[in-house]
Amino acid sequence: MSCPLCNPSNENIIFQNDFLRVVLVDEIPGYIRIITQKHIKEFSDLNDEETAKIMLLLKQIEKVMIKTLNPDKINIAMLGNMVPHLHIHIIPRFINDPWWPGATFCTKIRDFNYPVTEEQIKNLTTAVKELNGK
Ligand SMILES: [Zn+2]
Repeated sequence: MSCPLCNPSNENIIFQNDFLRVVLVDEIPGYIRIITQKHIKEFSDLNDEETAKIMLLLKQIEKVMIKTLNPDKINIAMLGNMVPHLHIHIIPRFINDPWWPGATFCTKIRDFNYPVTEEQIKNLTTAVKELNGK
């Protein structure tokens, strides 16, 4: 069976290296996804060094997201039920966004104009790009 994360199309890659890639997801302004390059199913399939790297990167991206987008909350999620290839969602959340207080995987309950500008997204991606190799 072909895996959409092993064979991606139309990804907006912010940066990538041998271990992972970080992509900007169109669905929600500022939504970022970390995807391992290798097809692994569970978080515990990472070795200790990879675990440390990915956790540090998550924390760094969250900090950058807070600084550039000023969201009310950051949601970090690792599900993989639909696509069992390790990937982590980092989603900026705003009170009264279409799913608040539910998860963005739930049904939308309202319309919402995100208080996020193109410039903020540019600042976010520039700062995240600088995290590569740190
Ligand atoms: Zn895969």
